[in-house]
Amino acid sequence: MQVTLTHFTPLHICSNAIRTCYQSFERGDNGGEKDLALIDKVGNKNRHSSTLEHLFYNFYIQGISRACLQELARHRMASYSVKSSRYTLKELKHTETFLPLNSHNMHRAEQFLVFCENERVNEASVLALENLREILSSGVGNDLAKFCMPESYKTELAWSINARSLQNFLTLRSANAALWEIRKLSLAVFEALPQEHRFIFQDCMAT
Ligand SMILES: Cc1cc2nc3c(=O)[nH]c(=O)nc-3n(C[C@H](O)[C@H](O)[C@H](O)COP(=O)(O)OP(=O)(O)OC[C@H]3O[C@@H](n4cnc5c(N)ncnc54)[C@H](O)[C@@H]3O)c2cc1C
Repeated sequence: MQVTLTHFTPLHICSNAIRTCYQSFERGDNGGEKDLALIDKVGNKNRHSSTLEHLFYNFYIQGISRACLQELARHRMASYSVKSSRYTLKELKHTETFLPLNSHNMHRAEQFLVFCENERVNEASVLALENLREILSSGVGNDLAKFCMPESYKTELAWSINARSLQNFLTLRSANAALWEIRKLSLAVFEALPQEHRFIFQDCMAT
């Protein structure tokens, strides 16, 4: 998977929002040490968490499975624009067969599927992909064919989320209880954050 941060709000927007409450703008240092300490104290330690909602992050996420997307999309306090299977399944229609299940064809299939650590599961995914490919090649339209897509089919999306909701996401999805792929995603999202923003989220990450 690949996570790219395409845009983010500078920290002084958040510290200025906090300073609005106390009308203490003259104490700001334009996103410097004083502003960061204020965000940490008010937004994190004092749990005046609504101030963190002024910070917005825009990500482009590639190569997660539709199973992972389903879990990600449960996080309602975020915005999603997802690659549509209705409009893009033609990418599979004109490909060659994935049979026999040799290493060359498994490698080709990995362009479309997220593989896991179990080879038997991966092979079953490729067989499902082959079924889908055959159905598309026989002329069945995307709107029907999509109903037999494997959950491991790769997708991509634009994902935008504010810092408060991102804290919730990282806490829940970096935890040991979370499924391995979304755990991996939570780590990749954290690592895509600008270094100077990470202090807001550091304590959310499972060790
Ligand atoms: C380990 C794990 C296992 C899970 N297993 C399952 C499962 O088996 N089945 C299943 O269906 N889901 C499952 N989930 C999904 C889970 O129930 C949540 O839907 C998901 O984690 C999103 O969390 P959230 O609601 O806090 O996030 P968001 O939807 O982003 O909401 C953020 C916060 O806003 C507030 N909020 C949002 N909507 C409301 C509302 N309607 N009323 C009140 N407050 C609101 C809450 O404080 C919430 O924490 C699982 C999640 C985890 C981490």
